[in-house]
Order: sequence, then structure tokens, then C-alpha cells
Amino acid sequence: MFNALVVNKDEDGKTHAGVQQLALDDLPEAEVTVAVDYSTVNYKDGLCIGPGGGLVRNYPHVPGIDFAGTVEASDDDRYKPGDKVVLTGWRVGEAHWGGYAQKARVRADWLVPLPKGLDARQAMAVGTAGLTSMLSVMALEDHGLTPGHGPVLVTGAAGGVGSVAVAVLAALGHEVAAVTGRPEQEGYLRELGASQIVARDELTEVTRKPLESELWAGCVDAVAGSMLGRVLKQMKYGTSVAAVGLAGGAAIEGALITPFILRGVNLLGIDSVMQPYENRLRAWERIARDLPMDKLEAMVQPATLSDLPGLGADILKGQVKGRVVVDVN
Ligand code: NDP
Repeated sequence: MFNALVVNKDEDGKTHAGVQQLALDDLPEAEVTVAVDYSTVNYKDGLCIGPGGGLVRNYPHVPGIDFAGTVEASDDDRYKPGDKVVLTGWRVGEAHWGGYAQKARVRADWLVPLPKGLDARQAMAVGTAGLTSMLSVMALEDHGLTPGHGPVLVTGAAGGVGSVAVAVLAALGHEVAAVTGRPEQEGYLRELGASQIVARDELTEVTRKPLESELWAGCVDAVAGSMLGRVLKQMKYGTSVAAVGLAGGAAIEGALITPFILRGVNLLGIDSVMQPYENRLRAWERIARDLPMDKLEAMVQPATLSDLPGLGADILKGQVKGRVVVDVN
């Protein structure tokens, strides 16, 4: 028997999350059984712990869209007992039972060996949010971003994606401007490496201006909404925005075609869920190399399985700072 955070749905459609004991036979069919060490809390986890947001189809459900742990049993030649592994994406924790449990059973294709230089706890301090930040930085680099061309903007900076993006970009030698709606997080963001703090409300007014002054050499955007509409108009000539998230809304309000056709700005879509294996490996290796571990440690807030219902609600309200690391044991 092992512990898991299980979400049940009652007859009137309400969901309830609580820690329960499960047996190995309860786990879904798949090739690899993993003893989970750590998981974490992402925005999507908030949805799946709560009413589901349309992501969860079947109940009872075990959420947790990412985890790191040790292989216990494997029917696939790529993995053997004792191997350290990390999992993000592939709709684990949504369509398939996830990492909020002491055991998980998943497809071998979904796993990545833990990169050298990272332990399971550090891998979950990074988690899907941090992996996605690194995928964003890699996409910006592939489109010409190099240090020394001006500040790189990070929106939703005190959140999970934002915090890792700030730390990685600063460590790579970029000047980083951090957008936050929480002025009390200025010290935290400067610690991570931000040299400029931009108040959220400076970038949320929708304007009809076709273009604004050229300010940013790149952008990692976790917010979208009216902020992305404004930021696109402030990008320097020929630069790129990595569009990661929608914490501020799914529409790009006030956006016009002008930044694209008059300044050659690129909007790069970043998806972590279906990212090919080779690119995941490359991103995890870059994290182990380019993310300073002391900065990562400064982002971490520890938690246990029983804290998850509260944390799930907090992240939906944008009230989680940095990265939560859930010790499932
Ligand atoms: P967090 O909640 O940790 O961070 C989001 C941050 O956005 C908040 O901390 C806050 O930062 C800011 N924010 C929240 N609400 C608003 C608002 N209404 N207007 C403007 N800013 C707001 O979430 P994550 O960092 O884990 O995820 C960020 C986004 O990225 C989510 O939308 C998530 O779904 C998406 N995502 C996408 C992935 C992909 O594969 N593309 C993978 C992982 C995440 P502050 O307080 O500093 O202003």
C-alpha cells in the first residue's frame, strides 16, 4: 500500500481531494513503475486538484503533472530498477494518473533519465515550469538572442516559469527586466538576477498605438492577455517573444500586426507537453549546466501531499511564489 492524493467526484459533480492509501494494483497499466521521490505544483495541477478545468476525464484521479523518482520495475529495455528518472508532460496527471503518490506507473517513452548534476529534489524544484523556461530560452537563442543587446523581459516573474527564466537568463549574462504584480517580491527577483523591476499595471492597459518605443531584446511571457499585446509593440527590431502561458488571459488583447510586419518581431510558441525526447534531454542538460543551484534553492517552498489542496487553490489565484517541491514520502 502507498499514499496518494486522490481526487474524487461526488454525485452532484463536486470534486474533493484528500490523501488516501492505494495498492499497486490500482495503478494504471504501463511499462515502468516508479517510486516517486518528489513532485511539484504547476498551474495545471491547481486545475486538476480542484474542479478539473476540463483536463481530467475520469475519477477517482491522482494529479501531479510531473515527478522525479527511482525505477522500481520495468518491462522496457531502456529502464531498469534503480535508474533515476524525471517525467513532465504527456498529459500525465491529467488524462493519466500522475506524481502526487508514492508510486506511479507510466509509459517508458514519457520518461527522461535524470541529468547528471541534478538530484530528484532539484529536478522537481525545476519541474515543468523550469523545463518550459529553458525551452523558451533555447527558442530565443535559436532565433538570435545573445547577451549585450538590451534587457530581456520576463512576465509573471515571481511565478514558477518566471522565476526560473529570470535566474537562467541572468546566469547567461543577460540583463533581465522582471514584470510582477507583487511589489513585495522585488528583493526576491533581484536576488535571482533581475536588474530592473516593471510593475504589472504599467503593461496591462490596452492601447491602440501601432508601436511603442523599442525596449526589449527578448521576452519570456507567462501571462499573455493585455500584457502580451503591449509587449509585442515594445520589442526591438527583429527580436522574439517566447509565448509560454496564459496567467493573464488566453486572448492577446490589443495586439496588432504592426510589430510583426514593421519590426520583424517573432512570436514563438512554447509547448512542454509533447516536446520531442531529444529536445527534452537537451533542455534538462542545459538546466543542469546553466541554472545556478543556489538561485534554484532560493525559489523553493517545501510541501507534503496533505498541503496540496491548499496550494492548488493558491496557484490558481497567482499566489504561489517560485517553485513548490512536494516530498511525497
Ligand atoms: P505561476 O502561478 O507560478 O506563475 C504565474 C505568474 O503570473 C504569477 O505568479 C504572477 O506573477 C503572474 N500573474 C498571475 N495572474 C496574473 C494576471 N491576471 N495578470 C498578470 N500577471 C499575472 O504559474 P507557472 O509559472 O507555473 O505557469 C505560468 C503560465 O505558464 C501558466 O499559464 C501555465 O499554464 C503556463 N505553462 C505553460 C507550459 C507550456 O508547456 N507552454 C508549461 C508550464 C506552464 P507576478 O506575481 O510576479 O506578477
